[in-house]
Amino acid sequence: MKKLKILSIFLFLGQLSVPVLGQERLPVIDMHMHIGAPLDLPAGGPAPCLPQPCVRQGHASANSADNLKRTLEVMDRYNIVKGFLSDLDLSELREWAKAAPDQFIISPFILDPSKAASPDDLRKELETKRIAGIGEIGSQLIGIAPNDPRLEPYFALAEEFDVPVLIHTEGIGPPLPSFRSAAGSPLLLEEVMVRHPKLRIFVENSGFPYLDEMIAMMYQYPQLYGDVSTMTWIIPRSAFYDYLQRLIKAGLGKKLMFGSDQMLWPEMISKGIEAIEEADFLTSEQKRDILYNNAVRFLELEKKK
Ligand SMILES: [Zn+2]
Repeated sequence: MKKLKILSIFLFLGQLSVPVLGQERLPVIDMHMHIGAPLDLPAGGPAPCLPQPCVRQGHASANSADNLKRTLEVMDRYNIVKGFLSDLDLSELREWAKAAPDQFIISPFILDPSKAASPDDLRKELETKRIAGIGEIGSQLIGIAPNDPRLEPYFALAEEFDVPVLIHTEGIGPPLPSFRSAAGSPLLLEEVMVRHPKLRIFVENSGFPYLDEMIAMMYQYPQLYGDVSTMTWIIPRSAFYDYLQRLIKAGLGKKLMFGSDQMLWPEMISKGIEAIEEADFLTSEQKRDILYNNAVRFLELEKKK
């Protein structure tokens, strides 16, 4: 009788508390976070969306401190226990890491290799463990493809130090004058994978919309993971679900990791998580894999305990 009573209280609490209280939620890892956006946008402005015309949502944070505060609030609400955080400015990254010790994996954003922190500088940062990843390598935003020799030293460094690499290799990106969709085919990663077989690398938006290319690469190079990040909120939900479902049907459910790519819009973290949770073609195990388990494996968090 007593047991039954306890059980019914538990069920009652369970039903009520999961959506209401952040601490009751199962842990989530956000593999794609930033401090800012790659475009100059006014404070309070909505987030981008595709394809245009489309309805933009959200309110951009006013500055880094505001964005940090808002981002931490959402992380707390959704029980996000780790975030892979990248930015061009290493001192800003340190500020965020200081504000939430152990919560962020900090990693330099690489845009233009000729202006980015040099591989020698990054070697020192890696040796002292002040950074724990490479990228997002976002050089596609200025038309530089993943197989460009200028990126080679960064891949070599990441492989040597066995740290994760995030790369923007897909068909979509911000409307910058030098952005090239053609420089984002996942097939252009092949030389990198062959040259660096131990590289732990993951591709933004799992290469959207280059599905066949991405499946080929993920089958051939099992160390390659993909994230489901901006696509959870920037493109129509139907397009995201279609892409995700086809990756799942291809058997790649253990290689996909949630990321919000929140940039200046922390509310997109909630939209992203909800997009996964509301996908009725995913089993609860597949949802947990995407939101947490796959990232634990990819980041080797169990090993590091
Ligand atoms: Zn990004």
